Amino acid sequence: MGVVSERLRCCVCGGSTDGAEDYVLVELTAQCSDARQWLGAHAEHLNSVLAEGFSVEVHQI
Ligand SMILES: [Zn+2]
Repeated sequence: MGVVSERLRCCVCGGSTDGAEDYVLVELTAQCSDARQWLGAHAEHLNSVLAEGFSVEVHQI
């Protein structure tokens, strides 16, 4: 429930993720409400902007 069913653009490069094998969906939650935000990205691009020690796993959707 609540998961975005369509592929979002990559939040890092802004490019299309159609057909991308490393597409990932990132869920952001707000501390004081039930609001949530979804971001799509290429895992490789997301890894490139994360702080050291963080990594993204690709899960088939
Ligand atoms: Zn990208």
